[in-house]
Amino acid sequence: MSLTDNYRNVQNRVMAACEMAGRPKDDVRLIAVSKTKPVSDIREIYDAGCRDFGENKVQEILEKYDQLPGDVRWHMIGHLQTNKVRQVIDKAYMIHGVDSRKLADVISREACKKGITVRILIEVNVADEETKFGTDLNEGPDLYEYATSLPGIEVCGLMTIAPYTVDAEENRQYFVDLKQLSVDIINQNHHNGECMELSMGMTGDYEVAIEEGSTMVRVGTGIFGPR
Ligand SMILES: *Cc1c(COP(=O)(O)O)cnc(C)c1O
Repeated sequence: MSLTDNYRNVQNRVMAACEMAGRPKDDVRLIAVSKTKPVSDIREIYDAGCRDFGENKVQEILEKYDQLPGDVRWHMIGHLQTNKVRQVIDKAYMIHGVDSRKLADVISREACKKGITVRILIEVNVADEETKFGTDLNEGPDLYEYATSLPGIEVCGLMTIAPYTVDAEENRQYFVDLKQLSVDIINQNHHNGECMELSMGMTGDYEVAIEEGSTMVRVGTGIFGPR
C-alpha cells in the first residue's frame, strides 16, 4: 500500500467511526503525525489533501516549515520547553501540550511580543502515568482557567496521550474522563465560548477515541508506517 492508500484508509475509518457514533462525518480533524519522516513523505500526504501535520520537536517543525506550502497547519504535539517557545509560536497552528502555568506564561509573553494569538490545548495526564507530561486530571480546570486569562493565548480545548496498548478498549475510560473534564470545564464557565477541542486518539485507538468525543486524532504509524 502507498502512503496515499494508508491515508485514504485512515480517513475512511475516521468517517466510519463518526457515523457509528452518530456524529457528522467531518466532525473529526485527522492530524497526520509526520515526526521523523522526510519531507517527500509529507508532500505525498499533502498532495492527497491533508493540511494538518503533527510534529513533536521544534527543530523538525522549523526545518520542514520552509520546505512545504504555507497552508500546512503544523501541530506541535510534543513536550515544549520554555526556551524553544519563541522559535515555534508563529510557525505552529496549535500547541497541544501545555501542561503548566510556567509554559502558558512564556507562550503568552512571547505571543504578546510578536503581536500574535497562539492556539493551545491543555494537556492532561488522564492515565496518571508517571512517565508522561501533562497536568493532573484534578488540576486541569485550574490550568485551563489560568491560561484563558492570559493575553496572546486562545485556549482551544484539551489533549491527552493515552498509554500505548494493543487493545484500544483499555484506553476507553481515559477518553471518557477527558470528555467529562471538558464538560465540567464548560459547566464551570472556564470556557472561552469558542471551542472545546479534544485531541485524543492515535493509531492504536483513534476509533474508540472518536466514539468518546475526540475532535482531533493524531495518527502517525497508521499513515506513514513504523518509525
Ligand atoms: C508520535 C505521536 C502520535 C502518533 O502515534 P502513532 O501511534 O504513530 O499514531 C500521536 N501523538 C503524540 C503526542 C505523539 O508523540
